[in-house]
Amino acid sequence: MLYGLKDAGFEAYIVGGGVRDLLAGVKPKDFDVATNAHPEQIRKVFRSARLIGRRFMIAHVRMGQEIVEVATFRGPIGDSHDRDETGRILSDNIYGTTLEEDAIRRDFTINALYYDIRDHSIVDYVGGMDDLKSKTLRLIGDPELRYREDPVRMLRSVRIGNKLHFRLDQGAVEPLHRLAPLLKEIPPARLFDEVLKLLLSTEAVENFRALHWFGLWQELFPDTDLALEREPERARAFIEASLANTAERLKSEQPVSPAFLFASLLWLPVQARMTELQAKQGHNQHLALVQASEEAVARQSLRVAIPRRFSVPAKEIWQFQPRLEQRHGRSQRLLTHPRFRAAYDFLLLRAQSGEPLKELADWWTAAQEGQPPPVPEGAEHHGGQGGQGGPGGGRRRRRRRRGRGGGGGGGQGHQPP
Ligand code: ATP
Ligand code: MG
Repeated sequence: MLYGLKDAGFEAYIVGGGVRDLLAGVKPKDFDVATNAHPEQIRKVFRSARLIGRRFMIAHVRMGQEIVEVATFRGPIGDSHDRDETGRILSDNIYGTTLEEDAIRRDFTINALYYDIRDHSIVDYVGGMDDLKSKTLRLIGDPELRYREDPVRMLRSVRIGNKLHFRLDQGAVEPLHRLAPLLKEIPPARLFDEVLKLLLSTEAVENFRALHWFGLWQELFPDTDLALEREPERARAFIEASLANTAERLKSEQPVSPAFLFASLLWLPVQARMTELQAKQGHNQHLALVQASEEAVARQSLRVAIPRRFSVPAKEIWQFQPRLEQRHGRSQRLLTHPRFRAAYDFLLLRAQSGEPLKELADWWTAAQEGQPPPVPEGAEHHGGQGGQGGPGGGRRRRRRRRGRGGGGGGGQGHQPP
């Protein structure tokens, strides 16, 4: 890949997370390439390259299974007309002519280390090697200016710091609280990508705590933040249990789903709004839940986009909850519902984090294992459909066992088609 560009007479280096992670002893996720070839020239060298117009044009080059991002050196940003009133960079299309120009446009010193294939050396213009040695995450240049140029860098500080277990340089920490509101200027679709990197991660719990601590969380999830203020213990227990579960699943290479993540993050606001709708508007439980779900997703999407392929199953997980709370003869049927597993995992999470649902959760665990205990006295009161001795009763059908037995978290794996 690098040799292709080199043989065509261009400079090319590996840079960014790949080099950084290798040097820090972490398995790199992917590799980024920086070159002085312009996008059209990159395409002449790699005919399969696709040019992707982000704020800055880059080329995606397929290498076997992998896609490598090839970016032309960035140049100095022009004067003030390229920025908005908060300092955010709006247009960014000047190519750099030297590697050093490219280096100082990168975010952190450890992200601006270039691996040179010609002599297998590392090129470092910004003191990245020292910061790597002292395990420090430091912005290149003035931190406030760099956060203002692109507020997403605040989220990157949290994510990369936790990923590598590096200390954030004091300069990188100090402006966070003050500048957090600038995240409002970032398009929700870009924040969706960043939120997944932060929270569908093995460091999800640490990332959540840091985001909350630095005042970034309330910009991303304002309604969830309110719930955290209203009932800190319960909200924190629930969110952290969900994120810890996600992290465990990732560590054991099980799939995780954004739908389950958003369902967890928005559950407390949904519940609160549902209670309010029942009390104030006299809605019945079903209607209150449907309306609260719609509202929660709509409000959240103003900050962090939730694509429909994830918001639809998230709403289904919520709307399944009251159905799980009704135990009666026909509850059986729910076991074969495509959303059952995710909804059941969600119920376990609720039970784990303090909602009085332990007995109910155990009942559903047993039901899945084909040994449902009888419906306890009075357990039908939610549904009022009249029991017939529980799913263990006469109408019991054989059914396929789903996933791993109880206890799991397997429902997160239910990626929508
Ligand atoms: P990872 O791929 O592990 O998530 P990364 O640092 O490689 O981390 P990418 O988004 O792949 O993240 O970016 C590649 C490189 O591009 C970064 O290492 C950095 O040098 C530069 N970069 C990315 N985002 C920014 C940004 N917002 N501002 C300045 N430079 C950036
Ligand atoms: Mg990368």
